[in-house]
Amino acid sequence: MTSHTHPVKLSRTFKTKSGDELSIGTGTGTKWKKDSKLDEINQELVDQILLAIKLGYRHIDTAEVYNTQAEVGEAIKQSGIPREQLWITTKYNPGWNDIKASSASPQESIDKALKQLGTDYIDLYLIHQPFFTEENTHGYSLIDTWKVLIEAKKQGKIREIGVSNFAIKHLEALKEVSEPEFYPVVNQIESHPFLQDQSKNITKYSQENNILVEAFSPLTPASRLDANPLTEYLEELSKKYNKSLGQLLLRYTLQRGILPITTSAKENRIKESLDVFDFELTKEEFDKITEIGNANPHRVFFHEAFKDL
Ligand code: NDP
Repeated sequence: MTSHTHPVKLSRTFKTKSGDELSIGTGTGTKWKKDSKLDEINQELVDQILLAIKLGYRHIDTAEVYNTQAEVGEAIKQSGIPREQLWITTKYNPGWNDIKASSASPQESIDKALKQLGTDYIDLYLIHQPFFTEENTHGYSLIDTWKVLIEAKKQGKIREIGVSNFAIKHLEALKEVSEPEFYPVVNQIESHPFLQDQSKNITKYSQENNILVEAFSPLTPASRLDANPLTEYLEELSKKYNKSLGQLLLRYTLQRGILPITTSAKENRIKESLDVFDFELTKEEFDKITEIGNANPHRVFFHEAFKDL
């Protein structure tokens, strides 16, 4: 896996149990999310994860709410790759609006994840978002939930604990009730040139506080929007570096010190997404992408929730 290890200065790094450095993640949400009432395994997704593993991915991102933990478990089993060489992230679902949490408690959610993933430990467990009500979570506040994660880490069920879609005030609230060794270590947020900060100053704050920022939807300018103010410039860079728009966006994310999570059903894209360690955007190119991005803000997820954050 030499191509993974080209140095990119992330704000913080992690290792799998076998000692390999954590690289770009393959997502099983968005495209693959399945109805929570569906129990059957989605064989197409199992095959996709197997393909991603075969092509070099070792970092898989799932969540209780995607209902894809069982597929990840099945793919791990079939892959023949030793568990300790893989990095599995999953997330507690606290519910959303009038939809209740998937599990009766965070403990139950963790134990279900272990069972569905067919593993006795999770590398990284996140609180999926901070917008919960005790009615949805069957009585668990954000702080109660964090304390459950700390306990699970102490018990060895989870190696690292973190969060997703957290603004500064939510991170501060957790720090107030935790010993430093149990501060959140990851904040997974929407991040791409058109959304430099999911909430005010979150990237800088996270990075300064030794929290690794993971980007979801990093390819938004290429995948979710038609021709846009970045397209022409990215196409110019694509010719210069002989890299696709997707690769340029992943490289841009890495150069911000952020670790991308990306998704594709296409073999060539899965493969090329790991091939982003042999070139570097110049400072001028990096700054120009940032400048165009800042001038054209676009958010994909959680519009209402971040209105005042
Ligand atoms: P991406 O930005 O990677 O978008 C993926 C989409 O982009 C796919 O539909 C893919 O389609 C398309 N795509 C891939 N490569 C290219 C390319 N070169 N040009 C154009 N389109 C391309 O990330 P996601 O939005 O999927 O997010 C990644 C993961 O992050 C999710 O799967 C999930 O695990 C996680 N996530 C977490 C959230 C959270 O709240 N914590 C919220 C949302 C996502 P195709 O298959 O056709 O290649």
